[in-house]
Amino acid sequence: MKKYLLSFAVMGALAVGAGFLVMGGDGGSGKEKDDDDDKSEVIEKSSHRRFDVPAPVGGASTAAVPTGQAVPQFGIQYHGGPVMSSGMNVYIIWYGTHSATTKTNLTTLVSTIGNTPYWNINKTYTNAAGTALSGVVTFKKAVVDTGTATSLSDAAIRTIVSNHLALPTNNAGYLPRDPNGIYLVLTGTNVTASSGFCTQYCGWHTHFTSGGIDIKYSFVGSVSRCPNSCAAQNPGPNGDLNTDGMASIIAHEMEEALTDPDLNAWYQTSTGMENADKCAWTFGTTSGTGSGKYNMTFGGKNWYIQQNWKNLGPSGSCGKQ
Ligand SMILES: [Zn+2]
Repeated sequence: MKKYLLSFAVMGALAVGAGFLVMGGDGGSGKEKDDDDDKSEVIEKSSHRRFDVPAPVGGASTAAVPTGQAVPQFGIQYHGGPVMSSGMNVYIIWYGTHSATTKTNLTTLVSTIGNTPYWNINKTYTNAAGTALSGVVTFKKAVVDTGTATSLSDAAIRTIVSNHLALPTNNAGYLPRDPNGIYLVLTGTNVTASSGFCTQYCGWHTHFTSGGIDIKYSFVGSVSRCPNSCAAQNPGPNGDLNTDGMASIIAHEMEEALTDPDLNAWYQTSTGMENADKCAWTFGTTSGTGSGKYNMTFGGKNWYIQQNWKNLGPSGSCGKQ
């Protein structure tokens, strides 16, 4: 079953805001602008309320950039906030039960996605000065969280991140406070997220301040809990459902965190969609057959990863390179 991004759902009641990836339901549209901590993005998969990849909106615009610089904008708009200009450092927090295969493969993903033709789509985005983003992604460290909760609230997920940042440097679970970091909380087969994993979203990203540093983090859950909602195929080109399903969601959240880390930079004004939202559950041309289709190859592996929005004239488009 194909999945479609329906919309951002404004979830102002969440203790911890985020951008979410989802399915089904009657997601609202729009995105709160008055409180960055209240943005939620949902990647939806649904057979009803189909929301096909929207036609590019707006076309070129150079309006309303605080610095007065001309920032090219094609079907997505720049709202003046910071971006991760100098590249992205990736930290993984493994929470719950993961197979060794999944851990190895997803580590390969984040270690090798940088500067691929796919990732370099993000170079079509700029900071406020009009300078293109870096294509560098550096995998820094993975830690195992020993928590045993099987249902995590949004606040609990934030606490997982903050706890690792607060550990002494000689602790195996220590993670540095890195303003260029994305902290991926990847939960296992025995864990859910209580604010709507599998029913409202498959993953999300947001940020908070810790030790004076703006910390960007993302939740991505085990897609084997709900492959019909959060996986594009079962199992996928690597023969491991969690590898192949989570890979696309991780990529989605990473490219959104890159271009909209504080939820006030790059998103489509009329819909609230960030770059990856505009191309969620679209894959372009594929190779392979059956449940092992793939659309890109890097790091010595085939992947089935959604396309990303290319901020290029005349009106932008989804692509995988
Ligand atoms: Zn998204």
